[in-house]
Amino acid sequence: MVYSLPALGRPPAPPMLRKVALEEHFDHLGVVAGSGQRRGTGIDDLVHSMRYDDGWFGIVTERLVEFDEHRLAEMDASGIDVAVLSQTVPGVQGIANAADAAAAARDINDFVSGIVGRHPSRYAAFASIALHDPAVAARELERAVTRLGFKGAMINGYSVLDGEPAAEYLDAPRLLPFLEAAAALDAPIYIHPRPPLEQKSYEGHAELLGATWGFAPETATHALRLVYSGLFDRLPRLTVILGHLGETIPYFAWRIQHCFEYNPADKRVQRRLQDYLCENFFITTSGIFSDQALISALLTIGADRILFAADYPYEMAQEAARWIERAPISENDRRKIANGNAKRLLKI
Ligand code: ZN
Repeated sequence: MVYSLPALGRPPAPPMLRKVALEEHFDHLGVVAGSGQRRGTGIDDLVHSMRYDDGWFGIVTERLVEFDEHRLAEMDASGIDVAVLSQTVPGVQGIANAADAAAAARDINDFVSGIVGRHPSRYAAFASIALHDPAVAARELERAVTRLGFKGAMINGYSVLDGEPAAEYLDAPRLLPFLEAAAALDAPIYIHPRPPLEQKSYEGHAELLGATWGFAPETATHALRLVYSGLFDRLPRLTVILGHLGETIPYFAWRIQHCFEYNPADKRVQRRLQDYLCENFFITTSGIFSDQALISALLTIGADRILFAADYPYEMAQEAARWIERAPISENDRRKIANGNAKRLLKI
């Protein structure tokens, strides 16, 4: 006979850990305002070039443009009090014409400001900023942060330009006034992935272009360009956020620093990569719910600089929430990652 313990009744479920989620997307650029009809630009081209399944893309598309019911229900089921909304990739970084990109950025920011206004306790936002003209970019960031109450900006990787060069990263010297404005406003810049600028090594492998792999080295390279341009020596108060637990940089930081020391080429920076990571960067858990990756990030950058994010609607917020609630870390670190760091960084 098998003895079992007597049932004493189920204790009440503990309350869910409260969360702020930092990389939660919408798509205004691809939708004709008010009509619900898609323009067929932006994310559509991108997703189809990477050959995503149409059924999957259909669900994602519906969720990208919905704010009042399913998105809030998913947040409630995940213990997410506040989602920081951002225009999905490529956003205005995919618009080559300067005037069109600047107008689209204002339009997106006004649109999402209205969404936040409808649910002020549930949503905040990162601004879309076109970088063709750094003075225009700085003014739009200032408007977004000081007048619309945005929490910073999300830049979707390199900007395409309809001149020379045809694409540009944030370390372009002419963009310094924009980054100075961000530092002065205490506005973090979230660098979001996009497919690699150079795709020759991916030929015949569309499956590797996106979130599987191509996003990470592309975005890590972008971040490292900022470090080795000396940007953070010039602007020590500038804060950059990376998603996907740092786009592989925490795992690789030792080797990058080690090899840089014996071959810095002509680059001179004042501190170690690890120091910049711990003073100028925050990283989020978007789209990578892995204990191994989290522990690597904790050992490199520390719990004070890791923030919860799901990457909705490309990921299920509930899966992200279940993972962080059970990840093998201290309760103090869990609370910092779930909401404490975000409240401090974004002044929520
Ligand atoms: Zn994302």
